[in-house]
Amino acid sequence: MKCKICNRETEDKGFCPLHLRAYRNIVEKYAGWQRALNIDWTEYLVQIQKNSLTGEWAKDVAKDIITGESIDVRKNEETY
Ligand SMILES: [Zn+2]
Repeated sequence: MKCKICNRETEDKGFCPLHLRAYRNIVEKYAGWQRALNIDWTEYLVQIQKNSLTGEWAKDVAKDIITGESIDVRKNEETY
């Protein structure tokens, strides 16, 4: 299996280790953003793409989630 974003070889969730780490960061930080800004998941992802502090990896992942099927993956990870 290959990373959906950069085509590196991967075994997990469709992301390579670097993008998977960015993905987990995104999921982890969402709770705080949601409390502070009262925004929904999609809006949060849009903000990540706009925010210059989030870094290229996170932006790639945010973009992929918005355009792709990764929202379903996130639901599976909510117990994580
Ligand atoms: Zn990747």
